[in-house]
Amino acid sequence: MSDTPSRTELSALGEFGLIERLASRIHLVQPSSVKGIGDDAAVIDPQGLHQVVTTDMLVEGVHFDLSYAPLKHLGYKAIVVNLSDVYAMNATPRQVIVALALSNRFPVEAVDELYEGMLLACRNYGVDLVGGDTCSSRSGLIIAVTAIGAARPEDIVYRSGAKDNDLLVVSGDLGGAFMGLQILEREKAVYTETGAQPDLAGHDYILERQLKPEARKDIITLLEQMEVKPTAMIDISDGLASEAIHIARNSGLGVRIYDEKLPIDPHTYQTARDFNLDPTTCALNGGEDYELLFTIAQSDYDKIKGNPNLTVVGHMADKNSSYRLVDRQGGEHELTAQGWDAFLKRS
Ligand code: ADP
Ligand code: MG
Repeated sequence: MSDTPSRTELSALGEFGLIERLASRIHLVQPSSVKGIGDDAAVIDPQGLHQVVTTDMLVEGVHFDLSYAPLKHLGYKAIVVNLSDVYAMNATPRQVIVALALSNRFPVEAVDELYEGMLLACRNYGVDLVGGDTCSSRSGLIIAVTAIGAARPEDIVYRSGAKDNDLLVVSGDLGGAFMGLQILEREKAVYTETGAQPDLAGHDYILERQLKPEARKDIITLLEQMEVKPTAMIDISDGLASEAIHIARNSGLGVRIYDEKLPIDPHTYQTARDFNLDPTTCALNGGEDYELLFTIAQSDYDKIKGNPNLTVVGHMADKNSSYRLVDRQGGEHELTAQGWDAFLKRS
């Protein structure tokens, strides 16, 4: 075939050439971005607000596998997972900074693709890419993103603010990203063993949940419109159980989650069954859904009632009642924070 993509070695551009190439594609939109790429440091105007700063690192072979994660999606996801943390503070992300370690197996075109995804996420969420660092790696690709957001001090929501009897609410549905990963891992194994082309047909929703997640900016806007201020909030990167326990522990409380309330998409449910996995376990412990988990006062229930984007999955409880999952028969089980990694090793 004659359409093999062209390959330009990174060494042909050099570090400064690469940075210039990236910078030429960036147009700042945030008034708070005083200076972006091109000096020793970016300059940001806090505009009298509190700044919220967070970093997440993605390491090849640990957090992603380039044999099935397209670079553009990976770039998109690297930005989105950081923005999700800023939204989980009830703040608005405004800037990101991107540090990359690249091995020479990546041509310039691969870096372009990665940035295409990152800049698409920046456009979609209205944030500026204002700086970064670039170095070489002897092993694989490492992407470290720092996101900077802003909020009025009184608007910031911490993990520690939940009160006894507050309702525990989750956005969207759970377990999809984990089932998407199971499909990708299965098809990769089949390909490695037999050379058969991956069969991903019909799994669009859960594959997208895994490969190209979104941060729930819309939920932050929705809560503001509904005039509901969560008492505590966290984003779901490690799984509902683990995040609910974080809120409970940080707030000095116990928590109860009801199995029958867990929002699980029908396709996620069916795929879990096909893999002989318990859909409840996938929803509780499958990670990377990037939904928001928050607590609200009981008196706010009427404001959120019936909203299709929000599900009450349980409530906070007295510290002595620990962390519990209530099954459909009313039986109570200890809720454990297996988190993402432990879950993978176990299965
Ligand atoms: P220094 O050597 O002073 O750290 P660099 O040469 O690393 O400076 O960076 C020059 C400019 O380019 C800085 O503004 C920096 O933030 C930006 N930059 C470097 N690497 C990246 C990258 N991967 N993505 C975005 N901006 C970058
Ligand atoms: Mg530098």
